[in-house]
Amino acid sequence: MDPVELATSCTMPPVLSRSAVVEQPKTLRSARLKVDTYNVAAVAPYQAMPVAGPVITHHKSTALPVVEPHPEMTEEEREARIAEMIDSYMKKLAERTHHHMGYPYNLDFDYGLLEGLTKFSINNLGDPFIESNYGVHSREFEVGVLNWFARLWEIDEEEYWGYITTCGTEGNLHGILVGRENFPDGIMYASAESHYSVFKAARMYRMQAEKIPTLESGEIDYDELKDALIANQGKPAILNLNIGTTVKGAVDDLDHVLDMLKEAGYNEDRFFIHCDGALFGMMMPFLRRDAPMVTFRKPIGSVSVSGHKFVGAPVPCGVVITRFVRARRKETWARGWTS
Ligand SMILES: *Cc1c(COP(=O)(O)O)cnc(C)c1O
Repeated sequence: MDPVELATSCTMPPVLSRSAVVEQPKTLRSARLKVDTYNVAAVAPYQAMPVAGPVITHHKSTALPVVEPHPEMTEEEREARIAEMIDSYMKKLAERTHHHMGYPYNLDFDYGLLEGLTKFSINNLGDPFIESNYGVHSREFEVGVLNWFARLWEIDEEEYWGYITTCGTEGNLHGILVGRENFPDGIMYASAESHYSVFKAARMYRMQAEKIPTLESGEIDYDELKDALIANQGKPAILNLNIGTTVKGAVDDLDHVLDMLKEAGYNEDRFFIHCDGALFGMMMPFLRRDAPMVTFRKPIGSVSVSGHKFVGAPVPCGVVITRFVRARRKETWARGWTS
């Protein structure tokens, strides 16, 4: 189906009101954003465009106005309208899902058995390994899942720390934070094809960062990385290595980088490697043995994955695993700085 036709065929659900849809007042932002002259090249490659040409379709979407129910509506009428709205939205989601492509997401899942859980306010607040006094939690599942990933990436249950994140982005933010806490004066290195969350982390933590060019494959340019490491020998290195880049699925060669660090004079106590395994972190251990394995038997500091990419999940989630000694170097922090 033509993407433009598809976009317009999926109308937004009806509004909970007897009156017609309220005209949205012109906002400053839409006035400033001249969609027809917008600089397409300036938009991040992950943004919802430009299948339909130079016009950025998602800036044109209308926001549903939030309105009070009509005073003359009965309770039944109100409920019927809400049900109609949800049903209409579900149809739209089904159609969009049916035509979904271009993103490395697994959409083939059915978690119908979990539906009843939406009745509860489940919150694993604080450190997953420490019982909290908030009783409505799922720690037994969380730690079980973490133990599974620890086995996958070959780290002893006693030696890791981690948690279920809200997404791959959060895993990157946490892994790089652990690196930064261990090496406050470290320089972050990551390839130009890294996910945008990686350089966002560097900005958030006010770290010096070096964006290393990539090879045509999408892997980090090893020679450029080595030159940068040698030039900055005086400072520790915090590296983000990609285990599957978003667009090309490129896997940085962990073994090669470890050799290079040694050659450039970085001992294990002067570097921290975070592996952004959002895409392939889960499947690497199952590939041919000559692929560069992601394993804590090598001197890496952390690994993260995205739960809604390869696994497929209806809500964003992810996993991050770090070494306990690294994560606990600063006693004051864990997930959310709560423990
Ligand atoms: C998608 C992606 C992320 C971010 O994952 P989210 O779960 O969407 O936050 C990070 N790194 C890479 C390589 C990705 O493809």
